[in-house]
Amino acid sequence: MIVIVVGAGINGVTAAIELKKRGHKVVLVDPGPLPHPLAASTDISKAARAAYGADQEYTALAERAIPLWREWNLEFGTELYHEVGVMFVRQQEMKPGDFEYESFKILERRRHKIQHMNSAQLWKQFPAWDPERYQDGVLELEAGYVESGRVVTTLIERAKSLPVPSGMIPRRARRKSAASPLTTSLIVPSPPAATTRSQPSVSAALAKRVASPACSVV
Ligand SMILES: Cc1cc2nc3c(=O)[nH]c(=O)nc-3n(C[C@H](O)[C@H](O)[C@H](O)COP(=O)(O)OP(=O)(O)OC[C@H]3O[C@@H](n4cnc5c(N)ncnc54)[C@H](O)[C@@H]3O)c2cc1C
Repeated sequence: MIVIVVGAGINGVTAAIELKKRGHKVVLVDPGPLPHPLAASTDISKAARAAYGADQEYTALAERAIPLWREWNLEFGTELYHEVGVMFVRQQEMKPGDFEYESFKILERRRHKIQHMNSAQLWKQFPAWDPERYQDGVLELEAGYVESGRVVTTLIERAKSLPVPSGMIPRRARRKSAASPLTTSLIVPSPPAATTRSQPSVSAALAKRVASPACSVV
């Protein structure tokens, strides 16, 4: 099956990789440049944690995701996920209904490695934080942050390098593929169209390109 995935943010690129692994030919479409500066995934860092208040479904997803982040660190040979812990603290004592309280209770019940961060503990472990201001919270130890823009860049390279399933390779191209395996079709940016009138601002130019993607195949 040929699948067109629209948008090469984290969801699109991981979907493309997974589809490819399952034997489908994938066309990943994005106006670019990649990672796209307007994409939610393009950032220095994003938190990867299981604390989601009372939203236990997210906690369950994080339990599956965090071991995969560790695997990717090994697989790509670079630290994309930094397991430094994630802490949520508040200015009053935690109580039922609070994000921190519900997170604490769920993480405790699901046997996560956590620490109760009251003022004394905060002062002891993180003296840069004002213990009078931040009184109560939870430190999730098996959590951290990912370098999300770098992750998308790395995964796009991975998507491109995966070989096309052999049944999908046209006969003419198949001869070539013995020497250099074909890659995932990735539709990425063509260079910005030359502007003849006054230069638009960067954000206006980007917004225009998102609205009407000009793509080329590599
Ligand atoms: C400020 C902020 C902080 C966040 N913090 C966290 C966090 O700490 N931890 C966490 O887990 N999540 C966090 N999130 C959520 C997370 O970033 C998003 O859920 C995730 O990045 C969404 O990925 P996506 O692939 O769906 O979308 P995006 O990353 O937005 O990718 C969409 C892609 O589609 C492309 N596109 C758009 N229009 C078209 C078109 N017409 N044709 C083709 N392609 C198109 C874009 O160029 C882009 O590349 C945060 C989000 C924001 C905004």
